[in-house]
Amino acid sequence: MRGSLRIARIAGIDIRIHYTWIFIFFLITWSLAVAYFPVEYPGWDIAVYWITSVAAALLLFISVLLHELAHSLVAKSRGLPVKSITLFLLGGISNLESEPQDPGLEFMVAIAGPLSSLVLAAIFWGVDTLGLTTLSPVKATVDYLITINILLAAFNILPGFPLDGGRVLRSIIWGATGNLQKATNIASTVGQAFGWLMIALGVFWALTGNLMNGIWLVFIGWFLNGAAESARRELELRSLWLNVRVANVMNDRPETIESVAPVDKLVNEVYVKRGMRTAPVVDDNRLVGIITLTDVRKIPQDTWQMTPVSQAMTRSPLYTVKPDDNMSVAVNLMAEHGVNQLPVVVEDRLVGMLCRADVIRYVQVHHELGRR
Ligand SMILES: [Zn+2]
Repeated sequence: MRGSLRIARIAGIDIRIHYTWIFIFFLITWSLAVAYFPVEYPGWDIAVYWITSVAAALLLFISVLLHELAHSLVAKSRGLPVKSITLFLLGGISNLESEPQDPGLEFMVAIAGPLSSLVLAAIFWGVDTLGLTTLSPVKATVDYLITINILLAAFNILPGFPLDGGRVLRSIIWGATGNLQKATNIASTVGQAFGWLMIALGVFWALTGNLMNGIWLVFIGWFLNGAAESARRELELRSLWLNVRVANVMNDRPETIESVAPVDKLVNEVYVKRGMRTAPVVDDNRLVGIITLTDVRKIPQDTWQMTPVSQAMTRSPLYTVKPDDNMSVAVNLMAEHGVNQLPVVVEDRLVGMLCRADVIRYVQVHHELGRR
């Protein structure tokens, strides 16, 4: 997810927070300090309300993190690599390197999250009943965390994809029918239905005097609805590329430029004449870099004649694909790094270029011909 910051590394997994989480953190702290704690536990000092609220919000953050770690650690222990965990606006997301390949594994990974939240609730409840919390603010925080972890488990186990419960539902249908596409369709339709239900209930709450909770519910419902929709689209897209290799879509005779050529030549002969915006830089058949219009814009125009391409080009990171790669790999790479073109290489020999425009043209032609 773009716009996120790495804060730690646990068991080889990068823990990142998205900037939206910082906003939510302040919002939660603020609403605890001025509304929730003063109403439930009147009579504390104002400073105590704020300190307790910061501690409760941090522990909420840790609860969400542990929930996500449970997903990730189960995935890792079953041989499914995990890139990172990102905490964002409405919770967390575990970025697995690929989707689980069988329904049993998907079930295990999905159920681990809500189970861990329930275990956390039980632990806090244990702390509470053992009477370890005689101090009022500590007891208030612990009680809050019991409620929050039960809510986390309850919300996530709703059977709408892409919530954990939706993944559980999908894995059960997938296991029963052997059809991932069908299972995803059903689970994400249920997910969208829950989204609409929350929006409707939220509007009802908002109109009947429960404004803040109503707005929150509408917001969460809207988010769930969108997530279900995009999860379904992503899978459709993946099935679109099922048997398509990069070699089928790429331009296999791309215009190239040598690293010693002046920028001037690049602009006139490649960008202007060929209508390209990016050129692979190739010396003796080997790809050594890539140069875009943006790179060139940084070079003063009056020096173009004597500046070699090698001075303006990007050497790394250089994202490349192989001709035998599946197109979904290339499309994901473009989306993930926000690049418009990928050099296609065999070892470090350039064999083609794949541009966003090629991808769109391929989809359009096949769409118009009615092929899938
Ligand atoms: Zn979860």
